[in-house]
Amino acid sequence: MANDGKIYLHPKHGAAPVLTMCSICHEETGVALTGRDFNKLFPNATEPSSDQRLVDPNPCTKCSLMLENGATAFISDDGRSFMIHKAAAERMEIPTGKIFKVENAWMDKNQPPGDVDNRDK
Ligand SMILES: [Zn+2]
Repeated sequence: MANDGKIYLHPKHGAAPVLTMCSICHEETGVALTGRDFNKLFPNATEPSSDQRLVDPNPCTKCSLMLENGATAFISDDGRSFMIHKAAAERMEIPTGKIFKVENAWMDKNQPPGDVDNRDK
């Protein structure tokens, strides 16, 4: 994950691959080779496993399309998220097609209950 385009291997776990997930809907988006950064990214893990997910900074294809169509997404510091349709964003007079980073307390208060399809499962 170094910025020079090289993968620095982890001394014990090599390329240390982990699955990546969309920051909005939490669907799997691919695989990241964490290499020597594994312990920094997963300080509580002893080794790579299929349960770990690294948040992909880019939304998945489905969420990108929804944003292009005017949906607005909210993502809290602790990773919770939801999206609202363009019409709802316009009614609330907030920008459409944007991702807003919000504080956990804001999410506690504003996350819609129940039927939102992209909540944590
Ligand atoms: Zn997504």
